[in-house]
Amino acid sequence: MTSLILKPGKEKSLWRHHPWIFAGAVERVDGRVRVGDTVTVMSAEGQALGRAAFSPESSIRARMWSFDPAETVDDAFFKRKVAQAVARREALPELRGQDGLRLVHGEADGLPGVVADRYGDTVVLQLGSAGADKWRRAIANALAQVTGCARIFERSDMDVRALEGLPPATGPLLGEAPEEPLTIVENGVQYLVDVVQGHKTGFYLDQRENRRYLGELSEGRDVLNCFCYTGGFSLQALKGGAKSVLSLDSSAEALALAKKNAALNGWADDGRAEWREADVFSALRTLREEGRSFDLVVLDPPKFAPTAGHAEKAARAYKDIALNGLKLLRPGGLLFTYSCSGGIPMDLFRKITAGAAWDAGVEVRLLRQLSAGPDHPVSLNFPEGEYLKGLVGQV
Ligand code: SAH
Repeated sequence: MTSLILKPGKEKSLWRHHPWIFAGAVERVDGRVRVGDTVTVMSAEGQALGRAAFSPESSIRARMWSFDPAETVDDAFFKRKVAQAVARREALPELRGQDGLRLVHGEADGLPGVVADRYGDTVVLQLGSAGADKWRRAIANALAQVTGCARIFERSDMDVRALEGLPPATGPLLGEAPEEPLTIVENGVQYLVDVVQGHKTGFYLDQRENRRYLGELSEGRDVLNCFCYTGGFSLQALKGGAKSVLSLDSSAEALALAKKNAALNGWADDGRAEWREADVFSALRTLREEGRSFDLVVLDPPKFAPTAGHAEKAARAYKDIALNGLKLLRPGGLLFTYSCSGGIPMDLFRKITAGAAWDAGVEVRLLRQLSAGPDHPVSLNFPEGEYLKGLVGQV
């Protein structure tokens, strides 16, 4: 059996069930071990602490599969883990019957590096670590058995794979690749989801509840949705009775699907929706020059700070769009601002937004702090897993 032996004192985070072992904590590895192999983790004193996946290329040198050193990591292990993750979601009434649902959310579900999103009868799988990559077959089989879904499609084309020394991997693992975008219903709105070419697994499921909340506040308002992707927030605003919705994104493909989504729901020609291909940073300034103003502004940009190391530059970007978004708001208007950067914690995000409000010369009252939905849980032992944060403010 192969063992990974920690340096003295480095077992403490494992006692608290933190699942990552950094390269600097590793004394040595005994035995022949290849990328993604399962190793037994030992303290410097020789106490077995659990089982982990070995990732020689990554600074996260190993990720814990189990804190029970006697646990066998095999096909049955993944079946158990996937079944538990799915059962936890079935126990939550708000998630029951959702077409689009995250079934497995990495570390929080005890499966580091594994993300699985279900869209109807298709599961899209993302494998982001050497260990997860090695068990691709077992994980796909487990998902098929537990969900009964006819199609498992892999979208392991995230940048983080390079840090693990893994090439991108995409394509069908079970069934055929879908030829057309899939259709899901979320909060009473139909969305087309392109699981083959779309971002991430095809759709930003983490914003489901926040989109619903926005819909509830949209009635009679002129809405500006920045970074609209395929129209997630825009369509909820239209459903909620918005007076007008202007949506901005730099991706022509995303906007094309957004317009199809509007048509699918019968809003192609009702005159309320306007779509612009634009860079939000400059478009916010242009809109001011045009004398436009809004009752509700949504800012849901891509990840500006993947890690804390990017926080400073990212903070400037978040501040810039918040400042210019606030300047477009009428008195009494609402700002929805989000960050999906793991490197920007909520308290910093609040400070950035407060700085933007100060510079914009407006007083903002915080109505709500938002996060990802309950199908994207955060383990209290792994606070790094908390990435999406949102603020709803009223000026
Ligand atoms: N709110 C969306 C998800 C947004 S994802 C939803 O609910 O589905 C972020 C989007 O920002 C992507 O569609 C990407 O194309 C777009 N984007 C990235 N940089 C941009 C920029 N500088 N200007 C405009 N759009 C940008």
